[in-house]
Amino acid sequence: MTKKIAVLAGDGIGPEIVAEAVKILEALRAEGLDISLEYGLVGGAAYDETGTPLPDATLSLAKSADAILLGAVGGYKWESLDISVRPEKGLLGLRSELNLFANLRPAILYPQLADASTLKPEVVSGLDLMIVRELTGGIYFGQPRGIRVLENGEKQGFNTLIYRESEIERIAKVAFEIAGKRQGRVCSVDKANVLESTELWRETVTTVAEDYPDIQLSHMYVDNAAMQLVRAPKQFDVMVTTNMFGDILSDCASMLTGSIGMLPSASLDENSKGMYEPIHGSAPDIAGENIANPLATILSVAMMLRYTLNEPVLADRVELAVSRVLDQGLRTADIHSEGMQKVSTSEMGDAVIAAL
Ligand code: NAD
Repeated sequence: MTKKIAVLAGDGIGPEIVAEAVKILEALRAEGLDISLEYGLVGGAAYDETGTPLPDATLSLAKSADAILLGAVGGYKWESLDISVRPEKGLLGLRSELNLFANLRPAILYPQLADASTLKPEVVSGLDLMIVRELTGGIYFGQPRGIRVLENGEKQGFNTLIYRESEIERIAKVAFEIAGKRQGRVCSVDKANVLESTELWRETVTTVAEDYPDIQLSHMYVDNAAMQLVRAPKQFDVMVTTNMFGDILSDCASMLTGSIGMLPSASLDENSKGMYEPIHGSAPDIAGENIANPLATILSVAMMLRYTLNEPVLADRVELAVSRVLDQGLRTADIHSEGMQKVSTSEMGDAVIAAL
């Protein structure tokens, strides 16, 4: 059956980088991949047209699609808008409306780009880790929350870190399944020595692990995990953690690679429907100049092929094509170094197609 892909380019460099990723999808379709592409508005672009960052038409397109390819949202133009209609609301709305609870963020350092990291090449060269972050629960969504005024007139801010067993079970399963396709190791990150909600996290992950006897499970406190990520990141295969810890650790892990323009992500629901997007933002400072790096978005297509479309061979091909263009010395401005050939966004996309 034809798989429907919703393409939401968004703002800033979004349309430029998504155009290159769409070229890859179109090339694979021409070879026989059974997909259809439908386009929709999201973020600031949607606000300008319709007065909301997530129009009903986009939400129903996203709901009816098998996978969503998203560029990025946001920009200077919309910063003064009320928070309820800011571009980022479009993204958060999609995540929660589609129940995309599992955020997969690989941090891979291509050997060709080992110099891009701020860490020593021997610490990061060959790095290939996957952070699995719970995305729809925890302290970012827990109630009650707010800022209240105490009896003495002082203000007090409060949030609630809350997790149900079922929420922990489903994210743990995703992590174990992914580890089964990789090196077979899961490190669960918590703060079980201080926070009861993550004591339950540790207990539940340990129980889920009984169904995965081939996977090696370890536990680590989040403070130690942050330290280990910069000390010896290659010790990790898959890390699974809560929404807030994952937010922080995945940004830290992405910077081990030094190149924000290279990293894809996936957000999945219980049926492996997913939204695929680069981890970077809309880069308004370079929008419209045809200099943005499209590789994170192209690698997001590889993740879509692997996790939603169930086409691991095609996913490998796309990733190999990216590696080949790096071997050829082609670099967009953000990853350019001496002796390499500087190329534009569209030239990079064309080179990946040629390598494919
Ligand atoms: P950003 O990721 O957009 O940019 C940070 C820096 O990295 C900039 O100098 C930018 O030019 C550069 N950069 C990012 N992607 C690049 C690429 N593909 N190629 C080359 N260089 C690249 O983060 P920011 O500047 O903090 O945010 C800009 C806007 O993006 C804001 O409105 C923010 O809210 C939004 N944002 C959106 C998302 C998303 O859509 N998922 C994520 C983060 C930020």
